[in-house]
Amino acid sequence: MSVVNEDQDGEDSRPRRRHVRPPSWFGGEDETPAVRGGIFVEVVVNRAFDQALTYHVPRKFVAGVQPGVRVRVPLGKRGGLVTGYCVSISLIPPEGLEPGRIKDVAEVLDPVPLIDSKMLELTRWMAGYYLCSWGQALDAVVPAGVRKHAGTRIGTFLVVPDETLKTWRDGTLEKKLTAKQTAALDALVRAEGAPLTVADVCRRAKCGPGVVDGLRKDGVIHTVKRRLSLDESRKSPDDEAAAPAPIEPKAKPSLTPEQQQALDAMTPALQGDAFAPFLVFGVTGSGKTEVYLSAIEQVVARGREAIVLVPEISLTPQTIRRFKRRFSRVAVLHSHLSDVERHRHWRSIASGEVDVVVGARSAIFAPTRRLGLIVVDEEHESTFKQETVPRYHARDVAVKRAQLEGVPALLGSATPSLESWSNAERGRYTRIAMPSRVEGRPMPAVELIDLRREKNMTGGLSDPLRDAIHRALDDDGQVILLLNRRGYNTFVICPKCGEVVKCKHCDVAATFHKSRRMLICHMCDAERACPPACPSCGAGVLHYGGIGTERLEREVRMEFPFHEARRMDSDTMRRHGSHEEALAAFKSGDVRILLGTQMIAKGLDFPNVTLVGVVDADVALHLPDFRAAERTFQLVAQVAGRTGRGQRPGRVLVQTYSPESPAILHAARHDYESFVAQELPQRAAGLASPYGRIVRLLARGREEARVKGYLDDLTAALRSKADASVRFWGPCPAPVLKIKEEFRFHLQLRCATAAPLRALLRDLSHPPLPPRVELAVDVDPVVML
Ligand code: ADP
Ligand code: ZN
Repeated sequence: MSVVNEDQDGEDSRPRRRHVRPPSWFGGEDETPAVRGGIFVEVVVNRAFDQALTYHVPRKFVAGVQPGVRVRVPLGKRGGLVTGYCVSISLIPPEGLEPGRIKDVAEVLDPVPLIDSKMLELTRWMAGYYLCSWGQALDAVVPAGVRKHAGTRIGTFLVVPDETLKTWRDGTLEKKLTAKQTAALDALVRAEGAPLTVADVCRRAKCGPGVVDGLRKDGVIHTVKRRLSLDESRKSPDDEAAAPAPIEPKAKPSLTPEQQQALDAMTPALQGDAFAPFLVFGVTGSGKTEVYLSAIEQVVARGREAIVLVPEISLTPQTIRRFKRRFSRVAVLHSHLSDVERHRHWRSIASGEVDVVVGARSAIFAPTRRLGLIVVDEEHESTFKQETVPRYHARDVAVKRAQLEGVPALLGSATPSLESWSNAERGRYTRIAMPSRVEGRPMPAVELIDLRREKNMTGGLSDPLRDAIHRALDDDGQVILLLNRRGYNTFVICPKCGEVVKCKHCDVAATFHKSRRMLICHMCDAERACPPACPSCGAGVLHYGGIGTERLEREVRMEFPFHEARRMDSDTMRRHGSHEEALAAFKSGDVRILLGTQMIAKGLDFPNVTLVGVVDADVALHLPDFRAAERTFQLVAQVAGRTGRGQRPGRVLVQTYSPESPAILHAARHDYESFVAQELPQRAAGLASPYGRIVRLLARGREEARVKGYLDDLTAALRSKADASVRFWGPCPAPVLKIKEEFRFHLQLRCATAAPLRALLRDLSHPPLPPRVELAVDVDPVVML
């Protein structure tokens, strides 16, 4: 089997649901012995159809097949071989199938199962719940590196020639590259010769394969084919576990009474063998992490393993150190791992060499041997939702996995999702409250600044906020400024005709980035030159408006020239390691003002921060999303929690045009419960989560009429067979009508319970999907664009 074929495995994960054809090998083809007894297997493949297929196992494979191994099987009329997972074995051919007509397994790929029976069950649940195929769920669980035997077979890797390195280091090259190309090349240079594939670089640089291909065509990078061993991958500086930094153990603090109470409440579950979900509702700085660490100690002492999920953004060296100080056998799984590195972690976890797995979303599928506990920190974070098939929510999968494995699950947050909160209200989760900060530190005082009254503002800072910054700096404090919008100007408008300059490929306003002197689309990253005149009416002068982090940085530098400021957003943090470097400079006190996007809002723990300024609290408040208020509340509450964490009290100033909006008002008072009490009835009225289930069907394609026509027809078909309890929202244009030249229309189905939705959506083959139209089925959607 060639490398090329292997690379194609698992490609067909696009959300396309084709008409379910009866498997063609039932039809009379040659080489069908009249009667064959023996062993049969059910195999699922990564295709959109959701059935297991039955194959006969030839005698030579009988010893090798077992549930959880992958096999090669013929599929389709031409009988081409595809890879699938064996999910069950039986001695009796399934009813209705003539044994002689069943095709043979062609190859058994794995000497040992890749997944155990619990994971088979979990993936089957995912398929049913998220309305994808079992094969698609399985491919999400087993990392590509494991599937492709990364590190043991020949692969194609990228190399940076010396000439490139030279021009990269002196900077002459960077001027010629796009932002994405810069990020991709940076990922490669940083790897210092560690073997990276195209997919690895795309993951690290958050770019598409076209970016890498462009660099190759321009001769900036080369490719080589070679075989390498798993050990060789240890060269990569991005692999935390490969080169453990010497970490000085730190005496663990004795728990506060509140922390001890929290731990006591979960101890019977930690020592038991049953599913037990907890919601740890603890204010910022209440010491939740310390409680998780103690809980993990208990299960590790019993010889069990723990999985800790944290949002990717919180997977900072600071977080990792806290775990590595306490436990010696820690695996950190983050999105920057290469396929080879991921494969090695997978193997060491599966062979019992790891006690604690810390990672983002996909770490929930870690192949632990004796799982004892799952922790989901910041459980409200929307990044736990995967936005490609299978569109799972890692927190919800975590709870399901804990249930299947019979272990406790700790979901922690200062601002729980309304879903988890209501699960606690209904008694499904045990709530553990930690209402005070450690060492009796007060919650910071939050003041709202009504921007409607600040008439003389020319930049992003009102007089009171500017004064507060001066005062904090004068008192040797540090300052965090949050503005959740990057770029210099957030829009360019024609004062004559009122047209806003948009991306050429998307239906969104382009953002002006001064450092690149370009308009950049935040949806597709396309860049366009600043037009000399209005593209619509030709007027010669365009108005640049709105403030992003780039402009705020300039304002701050002008206003506070004697204090070092640093911007943290995805533009300045493109080069890997810059994140750590910026935080280290802030921690050391060299940097006095840290400003940036939500990147700085979460998880940071710096005792000397005495002022947090929220430059525009309204950024997310008016988005067409039923969670807009919840997100605004969370962001303001979380960033407010970054101050007052040391000996000195903290202060928070929040600039807003909507000081009376409940999300902002309650966040200012640190009053989660009042916010929830106000927000829940609105959710109930719309049958939105947590009161109802939502499935979003998004159709997209380049021809607007065809996309719209298809979704209209699909809606009519669904209406005709829908249960009366299902409510239809739409079909209508999606909030962003066009992304990357594709038009988007959506339909939301809402229902008080999930069953009628699932029954309705099990078969979406009628009307058939027209050519060049894609349909995405999103259960419990999080992103509503
Ligand atoms: P949270 O995750 O709830 O925001 P952390 O666990 O990060 O809170 O704790 C906040 C700060 O308090 C950290 O600096 C942590 O080291 C410190 N801390 C936590 N528990 C204790 C304790 N029992 N005694 C002293 N300091 C503590
Ligand atoms: Zn665009």
